[in-house]
Amino acid sequence: MPKQSQSVQEALQDAHAHYAAANPKSHAQHISATEFMPGGNTRTVLFSDPFPITLVSAQGCHVESADGARYIDYLGEFTAGLFGHSHPDIKQAVLTALDTGWVRGGHIPQETELASAICRRFPSIERVRFANSGTEANLYAIQTARAVTGKSKVVVFEGGYHGGVFVFSGALSPLTAPFDFIVAPYNDWEGTLVLLDAEKNDIACVIIEAHQGSGGCIPAKRDFLKHIEDWTYEHDCIFILDEVMTSRLAGGGLQETHGLKPDMTTLGKYIGGGFSFGAFGGRADIMERYNPLRPGYLGHAGTFNNNVFTMFAGATAYGKVFTPEVAAELSANGNRLRERLNVIAAKASFPMQFTGLGSMMNVHMCPGQINSIRDLKHANSALRDLFYFDLLEQGIWPARRGMLNLSLPMGEEEFDRLVDAVAYFVEKRKSLQT
Ligand SMILES: *Cc1c(COP(=O)(O)O)cnc(C)c1O
Repeated sequence: MPKQSQSVQEALQDAHAHYAAANPKSHAQHISATEFMPGGNTRTVLFSDPFPITLVSAQGCHVESADGARYIDYLGEFTAGLFGHSHPDIKQAVLTALDTGWVRGGHIPQETELASAICRRFPSIERVRFANSGTEANLYAIQTARAVTGKSKVVVFEGGYHGGVFVFSGALSPLTAPFDFIVAPYNDWEGTLVLLDAEKNDIACVIIEAHQGSGGCIPAKRDFLKHIEDWTYEHDCIFILDEVMTSRLAGGGLQETHGLKPDMTTLGKYIGGGFSFGAFGGRADIMERYNPLRPGYLGHAGTFNNNVFTMFAGATAYGKVFTPEVAAELSANGNRLRERLNVIAAKASFPMQFTGLGSMMNVHMCPGQINSIRDLKHANSALRDLFYFDLLEQGIWPARRGMLNLSLPMGEEEFDRLVDAVAYFVEKRKSLQT
């Protein structure tokens, strides 16, 4: 057990040493990866210092490391792993794709199956098109809005995330897509309205997550969303709801829960059954601009837009496995689990809480209501790092930033394991100087 007077930094150093000793094969793998990839990494969010753990297999809701440790997968591929790693129906769909041949270069029936499943679930999505990632879907949705409105500015929100080139927490990255962005305060309608009104003739679209995922699982208030929807409607501006993560929260996504009717919606993550996926869709009059039978139509290319594996897997996974009933049950399970975790967090000797909606949550080491990333300014990030290492030690695979996501193979046993691991952390670290 740690010394009584240990600081968070000292505890983190111990945790790093323990981690390094427990994961020598991952360390060796990392060293060889650094010869060919910058920092041995090809996806920033998966990097974890001192070095990342290498995963060699996965089954159900478990992942296994090169060092032989087995974890309950609460990272859930940042929500793309909704179905776990080996759902038998998805596996069968992919085997069928293998048997019938891939990279076909033609229309396939499964793309219609998947498109119809999406349009049936989302009344606001009258027509849809596929892409390869959520980033790409958002890029096309924004460009569509700019094309149909003839306006240029794009309103986004502090803490928002719409893909690697659309990150709005903190200073803008030099890699941010070169649009004319207006960054508005999340969950603050008055502050947002000032910015909207100032630029009202030039705004092509407003894009928002109704629950910021990457930003730390922060739900938007319904009134705030409604105000935005009304304003965009009155100002001939496209309201884009990014449901890449949140579509899992109910059969018809978070727009169903809140009674929203966005002009356009973007989708991604789990809908391809675990394969690369993105989609943008919405009002027929907007999307019909892509109809190749129309004079002057908008072209939308993408070698893998109807990737055979994604379409087969998605038609089964989203069209058949993830019914609205399953979605509702998953959200209920997540809500119950988050309540249990918050009971434990409330007893911690330091400020700690879990935010989120349904099957997505994020730990925050700070007190008070969290309405935007501004409320996280004084959160203890070192303590959150320690939480990550302590959970790993307890056989839980969380996101480094403290995000935890449920997947369909999980049941009470896995929920109890997480509750126990969080209780372990709270007890073990109770005397820490924070
Ligand atoms: C993950 C995510 C994206 C980007 O999707 P990729 O497939 O990783 O490009 C966009 N928006 C939100 C809300 C996301 O969570």
